[in-house]
Amino acid sequence: MEPAKNFVIDEKFIDNIFKPRQDFSHKGTYGKVTVVGGSYGKIGAAVLSTRSALKTGTGLTFSLAPGCGYEILQTSCPEAMFIKGGEDCIDRFPVEKDSVAGIGPGLGTDPKTKEAFLKFLKDYSKPLVLDADALNIIAEDEKNLKLIPEKSIITPHPKEFERLFGAFENSFERLESAKRKAEELKIYLVLKDHHTQVITPEGNVFYNITGNAGLAKGGSGDILTGVLTSLLAQGYSEEETCILGVWLHGRAADLAAEKHSKESMLPTDVIDEFGSVFEELN
Ligand code: AMP
Ligand code: MG
Repeated sequence: MEPAKNFVIDEKFIDNIFKPRQDFSHKGTYGKVTVVGGSYGKIGAAVLSTRSALKTGTGLTFSLAPGCGYEILQTSCPEAMFIKGGEDCIDRFPVEKDSVAGIGPGLGTDPKTKEAFLKFLKDYSKPLVLDADALNIIAEDEKNLKLIPEKSIITPHPKEFERLFGAFENSFERLESAKRKAEELKIYLVLKDHHTQVITPEGNVFYNITGNAGLAKGGSGDILTGVLTSLLAQGYSEEETCILGVWLHGRAADLAAEKHSKESMLPTDVIDEFGSVFEELN
């Protein structure tokens, strides 16, 4: 095996990965996504993820959420199809067939959700994108880590990382532990931070340098989940998805900050900038 390497994600990486839309194509060409999240009071997180999947190119987008989110989701994301997974919280996971699922934003940790999610994981083997409460539920018992399907992408912020894998003295030790975990579990770890790190099962580390402190607001991570799920569904490899996804998310945030300031920009403003980022790439 080749020795592990460190890279800074630059525009050359992105140009090599990004595939422009083809003229002779249809919605089936660009994959299906199921965004799984939302609970009473946290439907906004599901909206942000679903809109992000829609705005980053996926062909068909489903939003699996509790019934209490039906009207909100159908109104704010009319292009997405709603799948009911419970009443006030998700208590079943009927992920759309042949779709890539991104699970976690606003999911909550109701006992019914926890039980159903762990049962779902036991029977599911395709790569998932896992974030937020999906990670918090997994973190409750070390044995749950083995339930994460191989090649899944997990996107913890530092606190979620600590819940999953324990506290570390400094960021160097955290990174070394992340590399061991990515290899052991055969997963892609997106360690969210000022300079987000993508860690592959081979131990390679890709540092992202787009993005800014305007992202330090509730909802920013929910957007990344939608973007990653959308890219994976469009046929990018797991590694390409992570690299292109974190870069796109940060670049859109940089454009949002130019327009609105870091203080005032909102996660919804970041979603609105995806179009300009794709214009730059095309
Ligand atoms: P979450 O905590 O799950 O909402 O995720 C926050 C998102 O915003 C991640 O993608 C972080 O990398 C990004 N983010 C948060 N704070 C900063 C910051 N100070 N500089 C750059 N990116 C940030
Ligand atoms: Mg989050």
